[in-house]
Amino acid sequence: MKTSEARSKYKRLFELMEKHHTMMREAIPLIASENIHSPAVKEAMIVDFSDRYAEGWPGERVYAGCQFIDQVELLANELTEKLFRAEFADTRPISGVLANLSVLTAFTEPGDRMMCLSIPTGGHISSAKHKLWGTAGRVRGLKIQYFKYDDQELNIDIDATLRRIRRLEKSGKHIDIYMLGASVFPFPHPVKEIAEIADEFGAYVNFDAAHVAGLVATDNFQDPLREGADSMTFSTHKTLPGPQGGCIVSHAKFAERLKKGVFPALHSNHHLHHMAAKGVVMAEMLAFGKEYGKQIVANAQALGQALSEVGFKVLAEHKGFTKSHVLLIEVADTPLRNGRAVEEKLEKANIIINRNLLPWDKRMGRDYVRPGGIRLGTSEVTRLGMGKDEMAAIAKFFKRLVFDGEAPSKIAREVKEFRQGYQKVHYAFDTARDAYEYVRLR
Ligand SMILES: *Cc1c(COP(=O)(O)O)cnc(C)c1O
Repeated sequence: MKTSEARSKYKRLFELMEKHHTMMREAIPLIASENIHSPAVKEAMIVDFSDRYAEGWPGERVYAGCQFIDQVELLANELTEKLFRAEFADTRPISGVLANLSVLTAFTEPGDRMMCLSIPTGGHISSAKHKLWGTAGRVRGLKIQYFKYDDQELNIDIDATLRRIRRLEKSGKHIDIYMLGASVFPFPHPVKEIAEIADEFGAYVNFDAAHVAGLVATDNFQDPLREGADSMTFSTHKTLPGPQGGCIVSHAKFAERLKKGVFPALHSNHHLHHMAAKGVVMAEMLAFGKEYGKQIVANAQALGQALSEVGFKVLAEHKGFTKSHVLLIEVADTPLRNGRAVEEKLEKANIIINRNLLPWDKRMGRDYVRPGGIRLGTSEVTRLGMGKDEMAAIAKFFKRLVFDGEAPSKIAREVKEFRQGYQKVHYAFDTARDAYEYVRLR
C-alpha cells in the first residue's frame, strides 16, 4: 500500500471513531452490559502503563521498571477488597471470560462437572457446553449440567435444582463446581442453598457477577461472599462503570490458588492501564456507589412500570419487574413481532438496545436471530444523571416507535434534543469533560 493510501485509511479510522462519539452523544444507551466510565477512568487508560510489562504479582515481577505500577496495583487490589468486603482481590484478569476461566483453572480439572444456567435462561457463553464452543466446555473441558429454571419467576428453581443435584450425585455424576450468576439477571440467585449442597457433596461455588458487580459491591442486590460463595468473578464495565476488564474476589484461603489461575495459567502481561483504571472506579464506587446502585435499580423498576403502562409485556410484573438493572420484555405480540425488528427500528431512532432470547423461545422454535424478546439495562442512562421522569419519557419513545409506527427519523430528532441535558457523568469525583467527548491527542 502506498503511503498516501495508508494515510487516507489512517484518517478514515479517526473519522469513524469521531462519528461514533457523535452517535453516542445523541443516543439513549440501554444495553444492559454497557456503561459509561468517568473522565478519570479514561485518563488512567492513557497513561504509559499501556506500554509496559509487569508479569506476575507486585513485588514478584519478572521485569524491571515496575515500582510505580506495583504500588498502583496494590492500591487497586486494596480498593477492590474494601469495595467488595473481600479478603482477596485480583484485578489482573483482562476480561470477565478470562476471570471465569482463571477460576475454573484454579478449582477444576478437565473432565470435571459444572452446573450453571443454560444460555436461553440467561447463562453466558463462558459457561457453555463443548458443542456450543463455550469456554467451560470447549476450553476447560468441563461437562455441563444446568440449573432448573422457573420461567415465570425468572430465576433458578431451587427445589427442582436441589432434587436434580441429589439425583446426579446418587448416580455417580458428581458436580465439582457451581457457577451462579447470569447475563439476564433480574433477581438474586439462591446462593445460600447452593452453597449448602455444595458443602454437603464437596464442590466449589463461584458467583459470576459480570452484570451485577456494581450492585453487589454497593449493597443493592445480594452479597454472594457472605451467602456462601467461595469466589466471585466479574466484568469491570457493566453495572460497575470501569474500564473493560475482569476481576476476581475471594476469601484469603483461596488466594494462592486463584492467583496461579490468573498468572501463569492465563495471562502473562495484564493490561496495566486497565488495572489502574479499575483502581479508579473502585474508589469512585466506594464514594458514590451506594447512591448510584440504588438509582440504577429504581430506574429499572420505573422503566419497567412505564413500559408496562404504555402496553409492553414486561416480564415478572408480579415481582416488580426486576431487582437489578435489567428488564426482559416480550415483543412477539407487538406489531414488529420479534426482538430483532424492535432492535433495528429503535436503532434508527438512536435508541440502543439488544434483542434477547426469552426462556421459552427455543421451545417455540425461535432463535437468536429473531428472538421473542428484548433486554434493557439502566446503568448508563443512570450514570448520565437520569431518573424516574426520564424513564417515563423513554417509554413513550418506545411506544411511538413500536406500537404507533411513527417514523424513526422524527423520533431520532427528539431523542437528540432529549439527550442535550445529559452530557456529564454523575457519581464521580471529577467530571470536567463531557461523557462522550472525543479526546484528540494527535
Ligand atoms: C458479560 C459476561 C461475561 C463476560 O465478560 P467479558 O468481560 O465480556 O469477557 C461473563 N459472564 C456473564 C454472566 C456475563 O454477562
